[in-house]
Amino acid sequence: MSFLHELEKYENFDFEGYFNSVTADDVKKSIGKEKPGANDMLNLLSPAAEEFLEEMAKRSHLLTMQYFGGTISLYIPLYISNYCSNGCVYCGFSAGNKIPRKMLSMEEIETEALSIKKTGIKHLLVLTGEAEEKAGFDYIKPAIELLSKHFPSISVEMFPMSTEQYAELKKCGVDGLTVYQEVNDRTIYAQVHPFGRKSDYNWRLECPERGAKAGFRLINIGALYGLGDVRKEAFFNAMHAKYLDDKYPDTEIAVSFPRINHSEGNFKPQHRLSDRSFVQFLTAFRIFLPRVGLNVSTREKADFRDNLLPLGITRMSAGSITSVGGYAESEEDDVPQFDISDNRSVTETISMIKQKGYQPVLKDWEMIK
Ligand code: SF4
Repeated sequence: MSFLHELEKYENFDFEGYFNSVTADDVKKSIGKEKPGANDMLNLLSPAAEEFLEEMAKRSHLLTMQYFGGTISLYIPLYISNYCSNGCVYCGFSAGNKIPRKMLSMEEIETEALSIKKTGIKHLLVLTGEAEEKAGFDYIKPAIELLSKHFPSISVEMFPMSTEQYAELKKCGVDGLTVYQEVNDRTIYAQVHPFGRKSDYNWRLECPERGAKAGFRLINIGALYGLGDVRKEAFFNAMHAKYLDDKYPDTEIAVSFPRINHSEGNFKPQHRLSDRSFVQFLTAFRIFLPRVGLNVSTREKADFRDNLLPLGITRMSAGSITSVGGYAESEEDDVPQFDISDNRSVTETISMIKQKGYQPVLKDWEMIK
């Protein structure tokens, strides 16, 4: 049984009909439920719940304090290659975009690592485009071995791999995996991923589970809001997180809420997740999944990120650069994967978190080798 079977249950489900039938009473009951189920999550994502944001925020805050205290884990991304064989229509690194391609040498990776280290953040997220033939496992493995000398906690966001490959990376120092399905709707998925290995929906959907089987400590999933109907996407994403959380209790599951930002391809999203709905969805996730980490990246504006702190967020990126390298040296023609909205430094982000009364966590993991 995999999450694919769970998804099949909803193949003929009338989401629009259900969402429109939810009443204020249904929402109130779902907010207060001790053990909310799938129908409660639908109620919390429905238009009727928009009138209950304050109640949802209060409950979300209480649950976050209960399970996470007032801590915010920080991580920093490092792109080591932007070669990509996929044609994702919403991404600046898409194979069709004529941009300068770059892949850091081991020496350059070490220089970047030394620069990032100065910020004090010990959680690194290492990213590449998805080009197995150019920046494949034989490039990634030594890169991770090198980075693990500088960072006790490393997550990867790369092409989906097999359980065996993830197990190998774990031995080299990787403890976390980030992989977004982007969009759960199969028809839209095929449209926005017209070619490349990424057009294999099932291979990607089962990727988080392969990471959990390999023994990673942290699995972070997400939908890219803007590609499909936002309520349905949030629901599928929540069900996926619940499936993983129930089946792999020793693994920390986390969810991100990326919204499409401007990228090189000038993609115009068909759907929009407003700030208000963002807050609704975030608090709905917390009520439905109290122990799951909730992540907000620098795609979001600084003041918006600040205001999300008491609403359920437990993890944030800081000081991010989304082009290849760029921490030690940047070049004029560096192209970002997407635009950053919060350009504050790590020090500024840490100050903001403290000012809000929260504890920034720069390190919470050390692998004993
Ligand atoms: S989203 Fe990832 S896989 Fe798709 S084009 Fe961008 S870098 Fe490549």
